[in-house]
Amino acid sequence: MSHAIEVRGVTKAYPLSGGRERVALEGIDLDIGHGAFVCLLGPSGCGKTTLLNILSGLDKANAGTVVLRARDATLAPVSGYMFQESRLLPWLTVADNIAFVIDRRTGGKGRDTQDVVSYWLDRVGLAGRDNDYPRQLSVGQQQRVAVARAMAIRPDILFMDEPFSALDELTASKMREELLELWGEINATVVFVTHNPLEATFLADRIIVMTGSPGVITADYDVQALIPRPRDGDDPRLWEASRVAVRALRTAPGLAPA
Ligand code: ADP
Ligand code: MG
Repeated sequence: MSHAIEVRGVTKAYPLSGGRERVALEGIDLDIGHGAFVCLLGPSGCGKTTLLNILSGLDKANAGTVVLRARDATLAPVSGYMFQESRLLPWLTVADNIAFVIDRRTGGKGRDTQDVVSYWLDRVGLAGRDNDYPRQLSVGQQQRVAVARAMAIRPDILFMDEPFSALDELTASKMREELLELWGEINATVVFVTHNPLEATFLADRIIVMTGSPGVITADYDVQALIPRPRDGDDPRLWEASRVAVRALRTAPGLAPA
């Protein structure tokens, strides 16, 4: 069976001054199945964002290949994005921020853009906030809009770079639960970057542990088998399973002792 994402031998070096370079990723090989929720877990600076940017096409590798596929191999895959900050356009209302990406996707030919906007605003708990500007929302609400915007194009693959790490834990845990619900609804493949072992364990089917630098994959394991869905954030098995991730991070080769 074909994968949603296939990565072979990806290496990335950033040019520095004086002709030097910083190797951020080395020899990354990775296959991700359709519909999987995969977390890339690793400490700050190990190359998670670099890898996500290369997977999503926001940046180019120096060597190696990345292939993305929709489930229906005859269609080009649609990618959605979410970052640590909402990256909403401040001069557009909440509704227009979402409509903008839908129209860009459909070439403005979608007849029901407003219905789609309302549907997704409702799904993220912001019904009736259509005409607010981003600055009139809390940071958590802005991230909800970013979730709605990412979902509204029904992406085949959703790339998420620490989307909840700037939120208070109460808000973040609520949004993780909601994300899993929406993921079930849109059936997308998700690649979710985090440095938080418990977050990765709660969300993922599969955790890929990265350490660096240069960043390499040091562990890759199945959480699905350990904790069935739907998951409860208070399930003690979550804590136990997250210890596996913590150990993988601690014992990674080449890691300086903390
Ligand atoms: P993470 O997301 O895991 O924190 P990054 O992918 O942002 O890590 O960074 C990986 C490494 O690449 C780090 O050493 C970082 O300093 C370096 N790096 C990231 N972006 C650049 C850049 N534009 N130029 C030079 N070095 C960079
Ligand atoms: Mg990062």
